[in-house]
Amino acid sequence: ALTLGEGFTPLLEVPRLADALGVPNLLIKDEGQNPTGSFKARGLVMAVARAAELGAQELAIPSAGNAGSAAAAYAAAAGLPVHIVVPRDTPLPIVEEIRALGADLELIDGLITDAGARVGAGVRTHGWFDLSTLKEPYRLEGKKTMGYELFEQLGHLPDAIVYPTGGGTGLIGMWKAFDEMEQLGWIGAQRPKMFVVQATGCAPMVRAWERGEETAAPWENAHTYASGLRVPRAVGDFLILRAVRESAGAAVAVSD
Ligand SMILES: *Cc1c(COP(=O)(O)O)cnc(C)c1O
Repeated sequence: ALTLGEGFTPLLEVPRLADALGVPNLLIKDEGQNPTGSFKARGLVMAVARAAELGAQELAIPSAGNAGSAAAAYAAAAGLPVHIVVPRDTPLPIVEEIRALGADLELIDGLITDAGARVGAGVRTHGWFDLSTLKEPYRLEGKKTMGYELFEQLGHLPDAIVYPTGGGTGLIGMWKAFDEMEQLGWIGAQRPKMFVVQATGCAPMVRAWERGEETAAPWENAHTYASGLRVPRAVGDFLILRAVRESAGAAVAVSD
């Protein structure tokens, strides 16, 4: 197993923000305290550790930015080369971080979906191990730990979870964790309401939710300052929309 100290991030009380919003009890799980500054670390520690155990020689991942820097950090820790493809306009600190961590970085004109096509070509021609969202099962297993941690830190599950959604792995992972906890007899059938939040400049899940659809059409001309949310098409769209529906949650878009 591999670790750089990811997970067990604090649940911060934010009473002034709660007051301003008229919510009695609001907590923020500060996932920015993970290694490389995002919860991408939770998924990629698992994916890279397992790929290394299975004998993968060369890893590859398309990213909107944060998954790339997390993959670079864990590949470096595992001593494996990794090819990372990101949009050319990815925020510079992330680009520099990926380079500093020693990954092979390619900048492309386009979005994460175009980066995905580039990685797919490398997987076919060079046998790279594909770390793309939901193309291997272990990133989800890492990200689901957010669900277990909420239970461990609170002693119960919250009434509602508000989740900034791109590819949706974290939301799908937490949903899986809740099912597992019910099978373990830790919780009952009740679930937190799951709220998907996207940027108005890239909101494919919100549009699909509002139309009552089970999958989401790709979003044209995706743009948002929140680079991690600039995901015009999600492989797990039907799983995200199903969790929102089954939990009686909702999907909402907000401006940058
Ligand atoms: C990746 C990312 C998201 C979206 O997470 P998904 O589980 O892929 O939907 C949200 N915020 C930040 C900062 C991210 O890096």
